Amino acid sequence: MFKKDRIRAILPELEAAAGQGSVRTDEGEILMYSYDAGMARARPEAVINFSSPDHVAPVVRILHKAGIPFLPRLAGTNLSGGTIPLKGGAILNLSRLKKIRQIDTAARVALVEPGVVNMELQRALEPFGLFYAPDPASQKVSTIGGNIGENAGGPLCLKYGVTVDNVEKLEVVTPEGEVLLLSYKDAGPDLMSVMVGSEGTLGIVTHAWLRLLPLPSHIKTISAAFPSTDSAMAAVTRIIGAGILPRALEAMDKVSLDAALSGKTNPFPPGTEAVLILELDGDDPVKIKTDLEASHKICAGQGCLAFKAAADEAERAMLWQARKGAYPALARLAPDVLVEDGVVPRPRLPEALRETREIISKYKLTAGLLFHAGDGNLHPNVIFDRRDIQEVKRVKKAGYELLKSCIRLGGTISGEHGIGVEKRVAMNWLYGKGELAFFHGIKRAFDPAGLANPDKILPVASDRPAAKSGELAGTFVFPAKSALGPEARGIVDELRLRAAAGTPTAVTGLGTRLKSDAAAGGAQPLDLRSLAGPAEIDAENLTARVQAGLPLKEFRAQLAAAGFRLDLPALEGSVGGLIASKVCPEIRGLLLGLEIVTAEGEILELGGKTVKNVAGYDAVRLLCGSMGAYGVILAATFALAAGHDEAAGTFAEPATWNAFEPSELHRRLKREFDPRNLLTPWLYGK
Ligand SMILES: Cc1cc2nc3c(=O)[nH]c(=O)nc-3n(C[C@H](O)[C@H](O)[C@H](O)COP(=O)(O)OP(=O)(O)OC[C@H]3O[C@@H](n4cnc5c(N)ncnc54)[C@H](O)[C@@H]3O)c2cc1C
Repeated sequence: MFKKDRIRAILPELEAAAGQGSVRTDEGEILMYSYDAGMARARPEAVINFSSPDHVAPVVRILHKAGIPFLPRLAGTNLSGGTIPLKGGAILNLSRLKKIRQIDTAARVALVEPGVVNMELQRALEPFGLFYAPDPASQKVSTIGGNIGENAGGPLCLKYGVTVDNVEKLEVVTPEGEVLLLSYKDAGPDLMSVMVGSEGTLGIVTHAWLRLLPLPSHIKTISAAFPSTDSAMAAVTRIIGAGILPRALEAMDKVSLDAALSGKTNPFPPGTEAVLILELDGDDPVKIKTDLEASHKICAGQGCLAFKAAADEAERAMLWQARKGAYPALARLAPDVLVEDGVVPRPRLPEALRETREIISKYKLTAGLLFHAGDGNLHPNVIFDRRDIQEVKRVKKAGYELLKSCIRLGGTISGEHGIGVEKRVAMNWLYGKGELAFFHGIKRAFDPAGLANPDKILPVASDRPAAKSGELAGTFVFPAKSALGPEARGIVDELRLRAAAGTPTAVTGLGTRLKSDAAAGGAQPLDLRSLAGPAEIDAENLTARVQAGLPLKEFRAQLAAAGFRLDLPALEGSVGGLIASKVCPEIRGLLLGLEIVTAEGEILELGGKTVKNVAGYDAVRLLCGSMGAYGVILAATFALAAGHDEAAGTFAEPATWNAFEPSELHRRLKREFDPRNLLTPWLYGK
């Protein structure tokens, strides 16, 4: 059947489900939905306009039955081609679903439909003295559904977390048309968090329950002008290292500043090459004043040319207008802009910036550098003209080199803009075959027919295959996997032997929750207590890698001795056991990376040392609550806070953590990761 006829054949059914006139196939509509804010283009076969979230599941069921691909779309401001229908099919236009259904001021939760524009939600919350933290620069147009689809971030995410940290619960229509309610607090693997940032490839969010925060009573916004980006970056590392946590810590280079301030009075002294925007908030004006003075001292120590607090709301608005308006200002300088989005561990920012400048100059391009400096998240904005084919080629090459530079520096290829189609190939550079196969397993479990936003995020056959660790591919040396100690090697070898013999395993930590003699199903215990070497603390980056068998208490004692803390309540058990059992779901918010070994003995590195990472599915959070059944956790990387533990509060463990009953989706994931049911077999054996 011709593609055009596929939709015609089911048109009456679709209109019965979504409403008369909801399905559009006319040329104007098709053209309008064949592009988004990225560079890719492709035509859908139909656009389905929704007037109720309840229509989504029946429509998806019809499309699934007919084998027609589909993808959800909102404002289309994503920068990675996420809403481009690569295999034709239907665009599910949810932008009319813009009801704020409830603002629960007592529980501090808002229930919204996916088409609610981020800024409109903020406006609705303000009279109640509340706000929703994720604040992408596109917030005047981008929507909550799109923000969830991309796991969007913004300046305030430094203190308050990105989208996934601010979502409580989701209603999701699966690619087969089933309706699920998912919360990160559910017993078992965290399916909600893996939905966030999945770019419409695992399902469609139809309602979201969002966490709200009280508006702070005091906000101080400061601009600090520096003679070089290096000195500005050195100040950033020192501010965070001093235990100061601003609500935002943003940076702009001179090219961006000049564009943003064009036609306006430049308030910065001559010789300014970079500006930091630092914003402190809270209810304690004394603490804000102390942090402000300490930040001033640090900036002065790095040769700051001017350090100035905004005198009033107008001055504050001017600073943010310069930061948030820099992209549109750069966009006015040329017909097109490529916004790159790489992340490095914060202390590597000076190197990353140096390499970025070299790459931009090597390809004879112009770029303004904007970055969420506190998060190590860089946005080179490269201006160009897409009608100049040679220039487009140079832009693409430069973009890829920028991403490789971030990977080489221990970072990742996207902090907030997603992979879509445009960075698919770069997933091969960031991950090995094992990690990519793990991601493919997630996709197959959620979407066995492969119809939900196909060919996004994961490399397809035409993208270059992965090279092995340390191997030279062109001029690029892939970083080697982090070295495992002899104890971890021993665990991996043991699991490989068991896999060869088909012996089932029960992973035990300190035995706080799972006693080795309680393991059912004939599983042999695998004791991880030997994985308890000293934590590797990266004081500059505020992260620590710790082995899974170390008791959390001991880990905390080591951190305290070095002047750091973990913002978690007092918990009993080993680090790995606490992650795998998810007795305290909040542990996910501090977890940046996991090293695991699969049932078949393959070592996987998921996440790492960057505080932001939206490259691929959030497998790290998926493994929270997986109870050793999806893989054995060998080591974890945590985000730390500077300063000592102020009496970590006690925690009432939910009784439900081990009352986990796997859903069909959990079982499908299990079949992908451990088809022979070798790990924690009693959980899925029923
Ligand atoms: C000028 C400018 C500035 C920007 N600044 C930022 C920034 O500061 N931070 C940032 O993070 N991003 C930024 N972006 C990128 C973009 O705005 C974000 O990715 C935003 O979250 C996309 O929202 P949207 O409503 O446009 O979604 P869309 O682009 O329509 O969709 C985004 C993705 O989500 C999927 N999706 C849509 N709806 C759903 C749903 N209901 N359920 C599941 N998946 C869904 C889509 O299929 C797609 O893959 C910027 C973009 C521009 C143009």
